[in-house]
Amino acid sequence: VSAGIPADRYGERLDAVRTGLGEAGAETLLCGPGADLEWLIGYDIAATERLTMLVLPRQGDPILVVPRLELEIACRAPGVASSAVTTRTWEETEDALDQVADALGGQVRGELLVGDALWATFLLRLEARFPDARLGASSRVLRPLRAVKDAEEVGLLREAAHAADRVVEALASGRLVGRSERDLAREVRERLVGEGHEVASFWTVAGGENSAAPHHLDSDRVIRPGEPLLFDIGGRLGGYFSDITRTIWVSGEGGSGPDEAFSRLYGVVERAQAAAREAARPGVPCESIDRAARSIVEADGFGDRFLHRTGHGIGLEVHEHPYLVAGNDEPLRPGHAFSVEPGIYLEGRYGARIEDIVVCGPERPEILNEAPRDLLVVSGL
Ligand code: ZN
Ligand code: ZN
Ligand code: ZN
Repeated sequence: VSAGIPADRYGERLDAVRTGLGEAGAETLLCGPGADLEWLIGYDIAATERLTMLVLPRQGDPILVVPRLELEIACRAPGVASSAVTTRTWEETEDALDQVADALGGQVRGELLVGDALWATFLLRLEARFPDARLGASSRVLRPLRAVKDAEEVGLLREAAHAADRVVEALASGRLVGRSERDLAREVRERLVGEGHEVASFWTVAGGENSAAPHHLDSDRVIRPGEPLLFDIGGRLGGYFSDITRTIWVSGEGGSGPDEAFSRLYGVVERAQAAAREAARPGVPCESIDRAARSIVEADGFGDRFLHRTGHGIGLEVHEHPYLVAGNDEPLRPGHAFSVEPGIYLEGRYGARIEDIVVCGPERPEILNEAPRDLLVVSGL
């Protein structure tokens, strides 16, 4: 496993956000638990009714307000351990917002930027507490910064992708026929963790007609010979997500391969996915990658069966900016990491999707996943 994010990176990120606050004309960033906090100081903590909040002023020192009982784990976060931020605690019987107000220092005016994921209960209390402040969305400043991955982040995404590749390949070469989707999903979770993920996060296993439902999870349905099987799986490794989809054909005893209609459908998905991957160049609008995939699917008459956007950004969150969707004219930049995952879904019959994680390079796209994309026909016995 790679070393991950160097500790001094957090101080650089805090400085970049300060600069961003200045450009945005905002005074302070207030950041609760979630991917923003993890990106800023390396602190991964679930949001609960006990408030944790980073107070990051444009000028002045950043302070992390934490419940007293979580001080010890907060101090292990690299941004805290390296003294890029200091801490302030609140006791169970205190109001956490007193500490936030102290950290903000007296009069609070101008614009306070709050995280997209901050619970409404805290947002309402902030509004009541600071009536002279305007509240805005911190994504205005954080979104472009977080979307561009540095070399270490790409390294973690690559490791996560390769681990997920190995899981898909192991599953495809194992016993499938006669097993339930749920049983296979359990194997997915075990293997994702076995290959180095901290946690498995999603495990779509969709046999036969279930492969036509893009967000099917799993069920008691048993895998039968002579049908497609779709895996869409991922988890977190070093904090960063894997997310891979492969659709295979399970032939069973007689070795009955895919019918002609499925082979044709799969071929269209394969060509669409390859075209979209190759379209990922710096400066092109995000929507043009969606267009590259969709125009191929449309030309083959499946346009209305491609039910979703072509891809989503990926990093500390499995779905984040930039989104590869019609209407998003944001230009692709080197360091943007995203999925490319066109699919075709024939309701009641079957579907197919191929998904890889791609990083926009200075000239060419880097495809992080290496698992084969040709239609794999396995006996599943
Ligand atoms: Zn999805
Ligand atoms: Zn996926
Ligand atoms: Zn995805």
